[in-house]
Amino acid sequence: MAHPVRVLPEAGAVPGGGIDCSRGGGVPAAAGRALRGFWALILPTSCVGCGRHDTSLCRPCRRTLRRATVRPFRAEAGAGSLPLRDPDGPGSGTGAPGDDDAGGGFEPLPVVAAGIYRGVVARALLAFKNAGHTDLARPLAAALGGALLAACSDLPAGPCLLVPVPTRGRSLRRRGYDPLGLLLDGLRRRGELPAGSRLARPVGHRHPGVRAGGRPAGIPWFPSARRGGQKGLGRRGRQENVAGSMRVRRRYRGRLEGVQCLVVDDVLTTGATLAEVVRALRAEGAAVAGAVVLAATPPPSGAELAYSEFRRNRRGEG
Ligand SMILES: [Zn+2]
Repeated sequence: MAHPVRVLPEAGAVPGGGIDCSRGGGVPAAAGRALRGFWALILPTSCVGCGRHDTSLCRPCRRTLRRATVRPFRAEAGAGSLPLRDPDGPGSGTGAPGDDDAGGGFEPLPVVAAGIYRGVVARALLAFKNAGHTDLARPLAAALGGALLAACSDLPAGPCLLVPVPTRGRSLRRRGYDPLGLLLDGLRRRGELPAGSRLARPVGHRHPGVRAGGRPAGIPWFPSARRGGQKGLGRRGRQENVAGSMRVRRRYRGRLEGVQCLVVDDVLTTGATLAEVVRALRAEGAAVAGAVVLAATPPPSGAELAYSEFRRNRRGEG
């Protein structure tokens, strides 16, 4: 039995039928463009893959990137903080062939990744996200688009809402652009999103200092009060850093019940960030079927076992 799917009301749900760029503390579009132009002027142009001059990604490295991301794979096995798969969702406990888990609900959320976060994939993503190389958006978007198509082909027919992990206002101000939004918006503009899918931003960050469930925040020595990204944190730290930090934006409240969603992010590490987006969506009754990432990385430390499992999983699927 497919999960009952409801479509977001057309009128005004997602202005322009696509991504809505309004978010607190954002950078005005013109300022973002100016910043991007500034980066393009001052950045030395050398290939992020091999260092060859006069190009951000030379032709051979572009081919390497394409080869490394052309076969999307299931990457949830190495990410210990992912939420559980929706017990009523597609593919769990349905009695479908090869589904031994009749009870469902004890498997992690399925995550489809375009490639492994290493080599030219990691270097291109880092340059794109943190060094202003927005000219890498096209090849990276192609990789993400392939993973989105693969993930959507596993879903029951029907509309699907693509929900990007929200960017922190601070990161947006520092970069002048939203890397994931740039990729997804490019795919949408070129008509390269999977048929039947729509892009929307129903999830945002809570105002700093406000946490769900009355968790203390804003106290410097309290672990969960740490403000900033997930980089450099272990699994536990990542969970604590994001727990309760997101919420469904007001205008989407009461409109997500039964809506089939795929959460989209750039890199999968422990899955703690995805888990927080999924929690916020499920609190509104959304049917989160899975997640899609551009690249998946093994947990940062002490998880050799998880990593080998992750590699086995990839070989098995790929
Ligand atoms: Zn190169």
